[in-house]
Amino acid sequence: MRLDVISIFPEYFAPLDVSLIGKARERGILDVRVHQLRDWAHDVHKTVDDTPYGGGPGMVMKPEVWGEAIDEVVGDGAPRMIVPTPSGRPFTQEVAQELAAEPWLLFACGRYEGIDSRVMREYGARLRVDELSIGDYVLAGGEVAVLVMVEAIGRLLPGVLGNAHSAVDDSFAPGSMQNLLEGPVYTKPPAWRGHEVPAVLLSGHHGKVARWRRDEALRRTVANRPELAAALDPATLDKRDREV
Ligand code: SAM
Repeated sequence: MRLDVISIFPEYFAPLDVSLIGKARERGILDVRVHQLRDWAHDVHKTVDDTPYGGGPGMVMKPEVWGEAIDEVVGDGAPRMIVPTPSGRPFTQEVAQELAAEPWLLFACGRYEGIDSRVMREYGARLRVDELSIGDYVLAGGEVAVLVMVEAIGRLLPGVLGNAHSAVDDSFAPGSMQNLLEGPVYTKPPAWRGHEVPAVLLSGHHGKVARWRRDEALRRTVANRPELAAALDPATLDKRDREV
């Protein structure tokens, strides 16, 4: 998968050299190209922002600079373009899965009050453009949001996770645990500072372990994300689920 990122702070993306994503790059699974937006600004100060029409505080990123940058990075190609913004639709595991199936993604990192809206309109006519929010809070810029998305998408690519089943058991993963949070996890030793690992996990009984995991996932979802629990499809719940 090819990933292009345009930002005024390319140095934010140093973490993409390490851990799972860094290894995926080394192995050629991910081809990440980070671009400095200011390279397409022509004045001596390399200006990328201006005052907002209609007044108000803050600055808005200029469409001309973005236009030149995107035109050059995209060329004749057609990546899916992602614009992180708190006013976008939520970036969820489902969206991560959808994006993981794309061959090429282009991320446009806003700063200040964001990017002039005409940029999204212009490229929306030529590319698929998604404005995505990573949560209901406001960051200083799109860079951290892009790191979040790249990690969530990258770990779903074939060959990135050491054990492909890790993603299958994750919170929000599709399948039997869809829309459930993952329950608690344990490793050795069986007792630590008086806290014992639940006996069922030591039983070796796969059916009982699976049932316990589902019970715990349901319990955690009800406690931490009642809106997700309320939205579960009743047809996917058995009698025991309802008791939990
Ligand atoms: N004025 C904007 C608003 O209220 O919607 C906030 C702009 S924010 C200070 C600057 C940039 O940070 C945004 O253009 C976007 O790229 C990024 N950003 C901030 N919060 C974000 C979030 N929750 N999800 C994705 N991107 C975010």
